[in-house]
Amino acid sequence: MTSTIDVHAAAQTFLAHTEAHLVSYLEACVHCGLCAEACHFYQASGNPEHTPAYKLFPIAQAYRRQKFPLAWLGLAPRIDADDLKHWETLLFDTCTLCGRCTTACPMGIDIASIVTGARRAFVAAGLGPADLLAAADSSREHGSPLGLTAQKLRERIEWLADEHGVPIALDKAKADVLLTVSSVEMMKYPESVVAMAKLLNHAGVDWTFSSKGYEATNFGYLSGKSDIAKLMVERIVDAAQSVGARTVVVPECGHAFGVLRWTAANMLGRPLPFAVLHISEFLAQLKRAGKLELTPLKESITYHDPCQISRRGGAARDARYLLEDFAEDFREMTPTGNLNWCCGGGGGVQAIARAADLRYKVFKIKMDQVEQTGAQTMVSSCSNCRLTMDESKAHWKWEGGLASLVELVADHLVEETKPAV
Ligand code: SF4
Ligand code: SF4
Repeated sequence: MTSTIDVHAAAQTFLAHTEAHLVSYLEACVHCGLCAEACHFYQASGNPEHTPAYKLFPIAQAYRRQKFPLAWLGLAPRIDADDLKHWETLLFDTCTLCGRCTTACPMGIDIASIVTGARRAFVAAGLGPADLLAAADSSREHGSPLGLTAQKLRERIEWLADEHGVPIALDKAKADVLLTVSSVEMMKYPESVVAMAKLLNHAGVDWTFSSKGYEATNFGYLSGKSDIAKLMVERIVDAAQSVGARTVVVPECGHAFGVLRWTAANMLGRPLPFAVLHISEFLAQLKRAGKLELTPLKESITYHDPCQISRRGGAARDARYLLEDFAEDFREMTPTGNLNWCCGGGGGVQAIARAADLRYKVFKIKMDQVEQTGAQTMVSSCSNCRLTMDESKAHWKWEGGLASLVELVADHLVEETKPAV
């Protein structure tokens, strides 16, 4: 990477795009080190460079370069190609933006948001991991990071509806609810798409997918490409407005939920014209309204909290409400809920091939947690977690079961599927 770029120009661009408010966090850090033990990367590797505070290093360097008392004499620390390469690994491979470190920080420093801002500055300088950036570019060009074009969406929905005998609404003229999809699901876990359709049909929801805006994941946001991040949000807003949807439901994807629910309005500079709910929140609403009738689940399960849905998303309780009176042998992990350990693949790390070994090490924390519960199956409500776990499970030849919350609920519906209203 660094051999073909103009290091000076890249460093200057990085500095120019480093947002001033992030620098204020540097002043707040008291270097207590309490965040270290909270980070799964440091826990898994023991590498001091994987401590959260160390990940502020690029911003600190930029700050010193700008504010160094004798900077005007050219005596500020220089940035070279090795610095840039090192920063890239820190900012992209060793932070899943999980926010766990902030729960330990006495100063409340939000390192995930600093890393997100630093990624934007880094990418503005023409840098960043090629595979993550390619996923963002594919989202702009083809509609999704995995090449799920509108045409492929139509074909796969038609195939899934036929194969499973479940009506899957696409491009209805009007609908109360716009359902979105993660291309990870559509391409790798299509049963999840069928499960969502089955549940919404069962509850009589007036819903549709839209080929105008369907991809819920936002690799523009994860990669630091702000223009693509905004474009992905605009597609969903346009699709929702064209069908008159009052609610947009995000599928089992943590960061998709976090971006659309908590960040999208800021990107657009105006409020979203609809409510945003994660599918687990929406199903919890249906259950509260008496619209989900389930047969009991006998097998022992535990629940993995996706960071962007629980800790950073505020929806940890709805998944448990869904499992209440349904999962007869539910066992919590320790720690759990807002303090749960990350799967290791959030924040775009799943899409970075060279980070695989580190992800596998991190997953051992999760394996140990699950084994301590004795549960047969770990359930999650994020397809990115699921993909990370599937790959890590294969790496370690782990015997533990994995399942999707939505699929589990759909598999235990009492009634036969009814056509959507
Ligand atoms: S946000 Fe998560 S992955 Fe990133 S430094 Fe903090 S604990 Fe580590
Ligand atoms: S816990 Fe907070 S104040 Fe302490 S070293 Fe980490 S970021 Fe700095």
